[in-house]
Amino acid sequence: MTQVFYASPIIKKKLKLLRDQVNELKSLGHTPFLKVVLVGDDPASKIYTDNKKKFCEKIFAHCEIVKLPSDITPDEFINVIQSINHDRCVHGALIQLPLPEQLTHLNIGLLISPQKDVDGFHDENLICLLKNHHSKNHFTPCTPKGILTLLNFYQIPLKGKHVAVIGRSLIVGKPLAMLLTNLNATVTLCHSNTENLESITHEADIIITAIGKKNFLTTSHISPHKKPIIIDVGINKSSNEEICGDVDFDNVLPLVSGITPVPGGVGKMTILSLCENLIQACRAQIQ
Ligand code: NAD
Repeated sequence: MTQVFYASPIIKKKLKLLRDQVNELKSLGHTPFLKVVLVGDDPASKIYTDNKKKFCEKIFAHCEIVKLPSDITPDEFINVIQSINHDRCVHGALIQLPLPEQLTHLNIGLLISPQKDVDGFHDENLICLLKNHHSKNHFTPCTPKGILTLLNFYQIPLKGKHVAVIGRSLIVGKPLAMLLTNLNATVTLCHSNTENLESITHEADIIITAIGKKNFLTTSHISPHKKPIIIDVGINKSSNEEICGDVDFDNVLPLVSGITPVPGGVGKMTILSLCENLIQACRAQIQ
């Protein structure tokens, strides 16, 4: 029978741990504090930032959403980020994407100081990933980290397994491919120019989709002999405005051995990882 990999049992288990860790930091006089920078009023971004704040509150950490006008100039924007970087009360910060046109030329990966970069997008943090270098001062990007936590919880082996990652963004596909390689998986990183995608997915033990197209991964991508594991990172809207992933879930379900739901899968794991990174940042900064 196909296993559905819900995030909820993982969150339930980790919540207690994270609360204990925050309480311990509080007893030392430090409350982990996250600042989320939100530019403009994109409705999806507002939901994502609100969800981050809610989860921080669940673990008794502080979170402030810094709302900036959509017409903010690059200089004004950089000044706000610099003041966050210099604020010793703030342990973690992130910039909610997408940004308005006038800010897209900025190298977002360098704006937030690497010590506060709980999203793990700073070049310094990405280099650590590339070199498989672990340290309490460096952060792993949240979505790839959450996916690994989920695979680990459901005891999915990675060593020697063939993983097809579809999507090569800097926030999901590329860092994920690196992390999986560091864990001894054999990774094929697929993208919009990949030829014969189906021949790759048919060979894969695990297929991870992060492209942002509803019903992209269908039964034709699945080998019935292989019964792969499917991890769906995509967040899309169905025709009736409901959230759905990249996978044609109902039809693919009987052909696979395990699959993440959308919603209720990778999205929740991403926020969990963010809070883990925030606690890590707070600990590192008070030492
Ligand atoms: P992106 O939007 O930056 O890029 C999409 C990627 O998909 C590109 O690398 C492109 O090469 C690839 N792609 C597009 N069409 C393709 C095709 N036909 N065949 C193969 N590859 C194709 O990617 P992103 O920012 O990583 O976002 C991807 C999806 O994941 C979006 O739906 C986003 O909302 C979602 N997302 C979810 C979470 C989460 O926490 N669940 C986190 C980040 C992103």
